[in-house]
Amino acid sequence: MIPYGKQNISEDDINSVVNVMRSDFLTQGPITPKFENELKTYCKVNYAVAVVNATAALHLACLALDVKKGDIVWTSPISFVASANCAKYCGAEIDFIDIDLETYNISTLALEEKLIEAKNNNMLPKVLIPVHLAGQSCEMKKIKELSDQYGFKIIEDASHAIGGKYLDEPIGNCRYSDITVFSFHPVKIITTCEGGVCLTNDSKIYDKIYRLRSHGIVRNQSEMENKSHGQWYYEQIDLGFNYRLNDLQSALGINQLKRINSFIQERHLIARKYDKLFTNSRIVTPPIQSKYSFSSFHLYIVRIKSMSFSDRKLIFEKLRNEGIFVNVHYIPIYKQPYYSGKFNPQDFPNSEIYYSEAISLPIYPGLKDEEIEFVNRVIHQPTNFQNIF
Ligand SMILES: *Cc1c(COP(=O)(O)O)cnc(C)c1O
Repeated sequence: MIPYGKQNISEDDINSVVNVMRSDFLTQGPITPKFENELKTYCKVNYAVAVVNATAALHLACLALDVKKGDIVWTSPISFVASANCAKYCGAEIDFIDIDLETYNISTLALEEKLIEAKNNNMLPKVLIPVHLAGQSCEMKKIKELSDQYGFKIIEDASHAIGGKYLDEPIGNCRYSDITVFSFHPVKIITTCEGGVCLTNDSKIYDKIYRLRSHGIVRNQSEMENKSHGQWYYEQIDLGFNYRLNDLQSALGINQLKRINSFIQERHLIARKYDKLFTNSRIVTPPIQSKYSFSSFHLYIVRIKSMSFSDRKLIFEKLRNEGIFVNVHYIPIYKQPYYSGKFNPQDFPNSEIYYSEAISLPIYPGLKDEEIEFVNRVIHQPTNFQNIF
């Protein structure tokens, strides 16, 4: 079976975890702060809070920006449901912006139009969550300009995008956003089994996320309401959670981070091989690296042009039957039963086209040339819809 993505674990990764198991602290020791420091250095950002997964990171990010009942949050419909659910956890409403068919990220044109309309209707969002699909950055400069003009905050859902760059700077530096979130799930670029992180340059946002990660408890006198009763004393000043990442996971993260640049390089080589094999076919390869963006290539998404929904389904099934575990990223979130009542698919024409044509092909460090060629052969195999090629 060839999956669409998987982790890359070395003996050294395993040893780093075993070493922590033999140490004094399995959690809340020195390793998670070390992982956070290394993430800060890698991303050129001031603060990092590592948490149990990116879903928790998105939840805390929304809370840190004071998202609550009565607020509206906007995101991309072509994302994992967690990008929208985080707003619902806080009691806010969610709305979507259609994607651009070149990049599959939110269209800044659609965003601007929707903002003008929302302003007239007094329905402006409090927070926008742009998603860097497949690891390719959104147009953050333009999005930041609009946020200054319309007064919303920005959380980058960069779950796919650690190791990617925007305008030659690392995604995660939060130059054009309030908070950036990464995921360390095994299919993502680097892994801690489950895991995620919030990055920010704002000390107040950092303090709040840090506090909420661990029950809303503070231990510094400066943050307490009352005078300390003694060295044992702490105060719970907020309703927080236990979203801490443990030291075993952080040890794995630290070790994985050492290899991130080679992971990304290998993903680019695989992408170029596919690109070459797919020239002169009806397969639309992922957006070429533009001046502003260097993708992490978390996903290699192709579109099969002018494909009907049922033809794409046939190709998908053919690949799966051959043991190639392709996937579709993603079912537009507005189609999910939990959300669907409120939305009209016709409001998202590009997302509809994308959804009928997209397939994510296998891409991960360690994918072999023969496997890439096998995918190419199967996808082009003549079938009852051979007229397509
Ligand atoms: C994977 C993913 C998440 C959630 O990540 P977890 O770490 O599994 O909670 C959120 N958003 C996007 C875009 C993702 O791909």
